[in-house]
This record gives sequence, C-alpha cells and structure tokens, in this order.
Amino acid sequence: MHEIHIAGEAAQLALGARLAERMRAPFVLYLQGDLGCGKTTLTRGLLRALGHQGAVRSPTYTLIEPYALATTQLYHLDLYRLADPEELEYLGLRDLLETPAIWVVEWPQCGAGALPPPDLQLQLEHRPDGRSLRPVATTEAGLALARALYGR
Ligand code: ADP
Ligand code: MG
Repeated sequence: MHEIHIAGEAAQLALGARLAERMRAPFVLYLQGDLGCGKTTLTRGLLRALGHQGAVRSPTYTLIEPYALATTQLYHLDLYRLADPEELEYLGLRDLLETPAIWVVEWPQCGAGALPPPDLQLQLEHRPDGRSLRPVATTEAGLALARALYGR
C-alpha cells in the first residue's frame, strides 16, 4: 500500500482518530519507526477518539499502560527499553490476552516472539515536512482498517 503523508501533529492526531472509527477488539496494532516519528501522538489521537480524556504518554518505563474505555479495553505498550522479550512474561500478557482488547505496541521488534501477532503494522518515518505512514496489513480486519485510512 502506498505511503500516506501526515503534515503536522494535528494531522497525526486526526489519523489516530480515524483508526478509532473502525478498530474493534480484538485488534493488534504495531507502530514501527524511530524515536520521535509520532507513534505516541497517533496513539493519543486514537485514545482521545475512544473517549479517553487524560494524558497519553509512552509507557517507556512501565512498558504497558492499560486503558478501560467506554467501549473497549486497550493496552498501550512501549517496548523500547525491554532488554529481553522473555521479560514480557512478567507483565502477565498471557492473562491479559484472554479477553478481547485493542493492543497498540510501540517498538514491537523488541518483544519479538512474546507478543500477539499484528492485524496491522504502521511504518512511520520522518519527512522534512511531517511524517510518512505506510500500512502493512496481515489480517482481514487489518486490511479493512488500512483501506479506511485512504478512504477520504
Ligand atoms: P514517538 O512516540 O514515535 O517517539 P511522539 O509521538 O512522541 O513520537 O512524537 C514526537 C514529536 O513529533 C512530538 O513533538 C509530536 O508533536 C511530533 N509529531 C508527531 N507527528 C507529527 C507530524 N505528522 N508532523 C510533525 N510533527 C509530528
Ligand atoms: Mg513513543
């Protein structure tokens, strides 16, 4: 799928909100890209559109932040500081995966082998005038959501 250009933070938040319109649990979203490429901003847009009113920060030290939203349970992970995917065991992921939820994972490559497989991966990159996003869908649900990103 071709690249989507995102010019500025407001557009990044709007794209997260657009994801929220169609994302239904169970759903696993991987956010890939360097530091500062807008993974948390996108997640913030998604969470706000799902009704979350507080702050949204990367759970860099706690690794996982749970959100009990009106319509769904969501887990936001940031695995940048995870030294070994086996450490994820201690977070009790296995238990959390027993009930349908939305999973949004920054730095999924750091948890390789210990994470649920993605429905959709979004590859973000820095651009001189914003960011670029390329969706890679791996399930039907992921494909439907990726298509919706081009819809308007
Ligand atoms: P990450 O979680 O990938 O490290 P953040 O979401 O924390 O990145 O964003 C880092 C910075 O980039 C923030 O200051 C944010 O406002 C800015 N930013 C996010 N998306 C865009 C965009 N599309 N264009 C310009 N700046 C952006
Ligand atoms: Mg982040």
